Amino acid sequence: MLHERDTIRNEVLDEVFASPDLSVALPKYRMPDKEHEARHVFQTVSDELMLDGNSRQNLATFCQTWLEPEVLALMAETLDKNMVDKDEYPQTAAIEQRCVHMLADLWNSPDAHNTIGTSTTGSSEAAMLGGMALLWKWRERRRAAGLPTDKPNLVTGPVQVCWHKFARYWDVELREIPMEGDVFAMTPESALARVDENTIAVVPTLGVTFTGVYEPVKEVHAALDRLQEQTGLDVPMHIDGASGGFLAPFTYPELEWDFRLPRVKSINASGHKFGLAPLGVGWIIWRDADDLPEDLIFNVNYLGGNMPSFALNFSRPGGQVVAQYYNLLRLGREGYRKIHLSCHETAQYLATEIGKLGHFEIINDGSPEAGIPAVSWKLREDREHNFTLFDLADRLRTRGWQVPAYTMPPHREDLAVQRILVRQGFSRDQASLLMDDYRAAISHFDRHPVGVPLDEAEAGGFHH
Ligand SMILES: *Cc1c(COP(=O)(O)O)cnc(C)c1O
Repeated sequence: MLHERDTIRNEVLDEVFASPDLSVALPKYRMPDKEHEARHVFQTVSDELMLDGNSRQNLATFCQTWLEPEVLALMAETLDKNMVDKDEYPQTAAIEQRCVHMLADLWNSPDAHNTIGTSTTGSSEAAMLGGMALLWKWRERRRAAGLPTDKPNLVTGPVQVCWHKFARYWDVELREIPMEGDVFAMTPESALARVDENTIAVVPTLGVTFTGVYEPVKEVHAALDRLQEQTGLDVPMHIDGASGGFLAPFTYPELEWDFRLPRVKSINASGHKFGLAPLGVGWIIWRDADDLPEDLIFNVNYLGGNMPSFALNFSRPGGQVVAQYYNLLRLGREGYRKIHLSCHETAQYLATEIGKLGHFEIINDGSPEAGIPAVSWKLREDREHNFTLFDLADRLRTRGWQVPAYTMPPHREDLAVQRILVRQGFSRDQASLLMDDYRAAISHFDRHPVGVPLDEAEAGGFHH
């Protein structure tokens, strides 16, 4: 009895790391039989997460890694809110609708009062919904004309993987324009060459994943107008504005890429990228209620009330939508403009400094007219290098920086590039520290050239 009481007292008094729970490694792949003390397990789990690395130093991701304390507070307050349950949480639902209207207005919807759209878990889900609506509309048109509906295709530039998923899941042929030489994005000619009567839509990306550049939406739109004049084919467009949808309206408002162009039937964007909301929210807005076929909308009545639902998920968290609303109100157009322009300035500073290192050729210089606040570059071909971009990425990792190096998609798999994404929370001061580490890495390779396998050396040294 006495011994047992002592053990219990010790468990309460023990410092976490001196506790019996932490004197052994916890099981990893089989649930333990017994309970553990909450603070011990908390310490263990939270310590393991240290190994994940520091998200703020991750210059690969497009997603937000810095949030205002007010956002954190709102997220904690909304942990219980289920976005799908519009009857139990009518205000969260109303807030979602206000966001839809604000975005429709931001993207110059001709009738933002009567807009239709929804929040999603991200741009991927939004792209699925947008793609489905286009596929359904195309089938409707074909059936009405008595034409076959078995060979739909979608024309895109080099796209994010969500469009590959859409094409495979819904059995649509993806006509993805490959990179050619130094052309890394869709052009009006390359798009037009792939369009035919089975094209459900042309999808330009505002902020191509691999380089960050904006595809020429207006020019592609004009080419489709000419096509219609010549052939009668009326091909709609969807814009993947995952990044650019929350950038261009603030940093480059003259760019006509949105509902100002009549062929643009729907737009998706990621709230958790340049929308500055925490992870887990995207948006899709249709030009017109007519562009979203009725039979894709499900009406659910068993949560009380009648709730229209067009989503792949059912239950999902509402906090991110609330945080998005907070950001829209908190920042307004002015705040988004300031934050994003300062990111562009930091990106341009980095492009200049990286150019000065002498080893690299800049692909995207991070200016607001070129694309998103990202810098991308490749190794100069007119000189030798005693490292690859992959070696450089590894070396920077020793200082905690994640600066991804990767090869380009089809037709330019031979080309390796490196990219930095500048997001809210990555300051000019941090950028200058990163440049110090760049210079240190390059002088490290000057002193310790990376070994080349003999056969490669014999074949003529470094070719990357
Ligand atoms: C990030 C991204 C996506 C996917 O968006 P998620 O919000 O991560 O699902 C789709 N398209 C483009 C162009 C992107 O940058």
